Amino acid sequence: MIWRLLALVILMWTCPALAAAGDLDGRLCHAVTGTGTSAPDGRDFACAGVPERYQAARLWLRADAPAADAAFANGATLLVHQSRFDRLEVEFRYRDGHVERQGVAAGEYGERWRVGGQIAFQAPVRESPVTSILLALDRLESYPHFRVRLLPSGEAEAETSLAAALVGAAIALLALSTLYNGLLALASRRTFIGWHAAWVGTVFVWGLLWSQLALLVFPGLAGSLASKLCTLLATLAISFATFCAATVPEAGRLPRWARWPAIGCGLVFGLVGAFAAFPPSGLLPLLGSVLGILLLVDLATVALLLGWSWRRGDTGARDFILSWAVPMAVLASTEVVDYGPSLLGGGSQLAVLLASAFQTVWLSVAETLRLARLRVERDAAYAARWEMQRLAESDPLTALLNRRGFVDRAQKALRADGGGFALLLIDVDHFKSVNDRFGHDVGDAVLRCIARCIEDKAAGNGFAGRIGGEEFAIGVSGPGRNAIKVAASVREAIESLPLAHLFGEARGITASIGVSRGPAGAEFEILYREADRALYAAKDAGRNQVALFDGSAAAPRSPAPPGVEARAASR
Ligand code: GH3
Ligand code: MG
Ligand code: MG
Repeated sequence: MIWRLLALVILMWTCPALAAAGDLDGRLCHAVTGTGTSAPDGRDFACAGVPERYQAARLWLRADAPAADAAFANGATLLVHQSRFDRLEVEFRYRDGHVERQGVAAGEYGERWRVGGQIAFQAPVRESPVTSILLALDRLESYPHFRVRLLPSGEAEAETSLAAALVGAAIALLALSTLYNGLLALASRRTFIGWHAAWVGTVFVWGLLWSQLALLVFPGLAGSLASKLCTLLATLAISFATFCAATVPEAGRLPRWARWPAIGCGLVFGLVGAFAAFPPSGLLPLLGSVLGILLLVDLATVALLLGWSWRRGDTGARDFILSWAVPMAVLASTEVVDYGPSLLGGGSQLAVLLASAFQTVWLSVAETLRLARLRVERDAAYAARWEMQRLAESDPLTALLNRRGFVDRAQKALRADGGGFALLLIDVDHFKSVNDRFGHDVGDAVLRCIARCIEDKAAGNGFAGRIGGEEFAIGVSGPGRNAIKVAASVREAIESLPLAHLFGEARGITASIGVSRGPAGAEFEILYREADRALYAAKDAGRNQVALFDGSAAAPRSPAPPGVEARAASR
């Protein structure tokens, strides 16, 4: 922040100094005649005061060339800041009486335009030096906005090349940023990024027109038309930037009405700007001053709004203020400091263009980082939610699905599966006596061993859960015969569990299993009731049994696999 303010102060102090380089402003004598007339007599030129009533006439400006300056030995270049006029004719007058005439007209700058908003007239090198320069301007709109400089040709060339490189880089950044922010606005659905994209896009088009790069494609825009469009785009850009700032504060941080003063400023500025772009004759200087005041009011309103939001903890407002600090200061400074044709001939416009490119890169990076942070936070929130869901559906003692998780999974399987579904209810036999005799801890350890055993047997066939104290369940998709096999192998595996290390004596444990089957789409509750009945049948039959529910008969519906006693249960 500090270095940026420092850079700005240096910029503000050095620019007026640079403005003196080659500036002819203080040395111009002027005369006004009707359009199309020839040069007035030397005595008709006034060398003090400012010209008046030139807007609908021909304004003559005369300057004496620097006498025999060695710097001009290799030629002199007259650089005119592109401005609003119909025609400009330049005469370089040499000591030997030779006169070199060159000219441009609105829409016809030929090869004379330079990137950075200037028109270049080159005095050819001759034996005899240039003694004076005469300019004739038809229908110049505003003399205070007209700038002209005479530089040694080499210096002018170096300056315009450097300006072209800077302008080119800034415009390329603005083009990329327009595209990036446009896409970002679509992806993130954030209004202020949309306004940011509109702002950058407008500055980009403004930059193309102001720098005259647009003349590569549309040479007819040269002159007044481009200048008018530039004014329109510049004010539009400021309006968009204001709307962008007004939509930055997060909802709820400030009262609802807080945005309206800034939005109002943006609207008023845009309307006055649109009027100033195509002003009635002679009103441009006045409208310029009005816009200047409105701009300062607009900046102050936006600064207040964002500062307030920042104080209330809005990091978006903070990033916005930081990214805008330099461009806003540059913009405000153009109302206070006259950059003239300084800064590589680009004046305040070049300062604004560079500052805008800087701002948009800063804000794009800040916003991208913010969205990346939000994404990380969102991913963490999702992960936490999944973990909570997993915990809500799992049993802490055995890490199997708990009742809720199991039922959920079974219902999904019933909805999805086309080949039938079987439910196995497994209840440990006489488990109370384990607790009573060996204690609860040993009981828990036994439950964990049984859980692992059931999980192993379910793997590849279905899914397992602990749905009650010492009650487990397995869901098996596919033909019923498969379920009977799984049940039989679970029963056998529990019976043969090596548990002597827990009990401290040669003792095993057994479980009874009830099985029910249903087609896809069957109700889980019904299957559960049926499996429970089968389980009771298995208990009644002496425990350590597998029983298959068969609603129609008392006999098993499928032959029991060897070693398994299948019992039937009736509804
Ligand atoms: P049955 O063969 O009829 O099923 O007899 P049972 O003793 O297994 O059945 P009962 O329903 O009478 O007792 C179940 C026991 O399971 C009672 C309870 O102490 C025990 N139990 C339930 N949950 C847990 C648990 O989380 N840890 C331990 N250690 N024991 C539990
Ligand atoms: Mg039980
Ligand atoms: Mg039991």
